[in-house]
Amino acid sequence: MSTTIQVEGILYNIHRYFFERDSSIFRSTLESTPASNTGAPLVLPDITCSDFDEFLSILYPIDFCRPANKTTQQWASILLLADKWGFESIRLLAIDCLATAAPVDKIVLGRRYRIAAWLPGAYNAVCTREAPLTVEEGIRLGVEDVVRIAAARQAYGCGKPRFEKRHLAHDIWEIFGLERPAEEENDTDTGDEDEAIRALEVEVAYVQTAYAALQSPASMQCKYYAAPQYCGACSDCKESQEEAELQFKAGERLLLKIISDAGAEDKLAKAPKDGRPDAQPAFRPLVPPATNDCSDWEHPGHCDECANCKNRMKSDERQLTIWREERAEKMRRLKGLKDQRQQRRQELADRQERKSMFRC
Ligand SMILES: [Zn+2]
Ligand SMILES: [Zn+2]
Ligand SMILES: [Zn+2]
Repeated sequence: MSTTIQVEGILYNIHRYFFERDSSIFRSTLESTPASNTGAPLVLPDITCSDFDEFLSILYPIDFCRPANKTTQQWASILLLADKWGFESIRLLAIDCLATAAPVDKIVLGRRYRIAAWLPGAYNAVCTREAPLTVEEGIRLGVEDVVRIAAARQAYGCGKPRFEKRHLAHDIWEIFGLERPAEEENDTDTGDEDEAIRALEVEVAYVQTAYAALQSPASMQCKYYAAPQYCGACSDCKESQEEAELQFKAGERLLLKIISDAGAEDKLAKAPKDGRPDAQPAFRPLVPPATNDCSDWEHPGHCDECANCKNRMKSDERQLTIWREERAEKMRRLKGLKDQRQQRRQELADRQERKSMFRC
């Protein structure tokens, strides 16, 4: 014999047999309701269709092979109605299938449906797990459980500290969703820093290229003399002279390209004649090698002993030294800026992680 049940305005045609056999509550309801005998639907006011559908899927399974292939939410629906109507075997089935549910689910359901066996293990799991409660879990558990769990986790040293305490005062705004005063917000702007690094990178490329374009006066190869002396006329001398000139010209071209790539043509400036070495413009043209002739030897040889030769060597070496020191200083400064930026980025990432932990 069948009976019509109405849930949320939807009519269900069910077999009275199952309901009367397995549920004492249903049995008395059906018996005491004249509607069931007149054909009018039995209205069940305080349940939902989705819960009822899940419940019926146990009474009328579509797939006999996989009756337990349901989510925690689905089993919770089944447990709700089985408990409400006293379907003891279905209640036990749901409890059995919920054995592997998440600890928070087991606390909520265990409390609600008096499943005492679940509670100690579930509370223990929540108190000792690594991650703290989420806001969503806290809402489901309720204030008392949340406070006790937090206290237990702290008192028993369960949650390992993930961040240094010094960050807390700064993160308090995010954690509790407070409105941050305007002046607190501006520590994430790294635009100026990036700009400074880019500018310095161009200067470093420039100084490296300039240094490489200059040839040490001691690098002349001569068939007859040992550097830094050279005859200036043999094939080796000519070759190394040409090489030095090519290297210088290529360097000049590269320097112009670096400047134009960076759009810094307007910054190209000659070094002042008597300027301090550490106050030179960054983008200055290369000074061509000195051309003082040797006063003792026939041009273009280089005796390395006369005053002219010594002056020439000195001025070439001075050029090299200036660029070399500038290169070292700028590379050091660039590394410092990049380290600083890296540290700031790391701190920002850490902060994002801390923020996301408390986002609901
Ligand atoms: Zn030579
Ligand atoms: Zn000459
Ligand atoms: Zn000389």
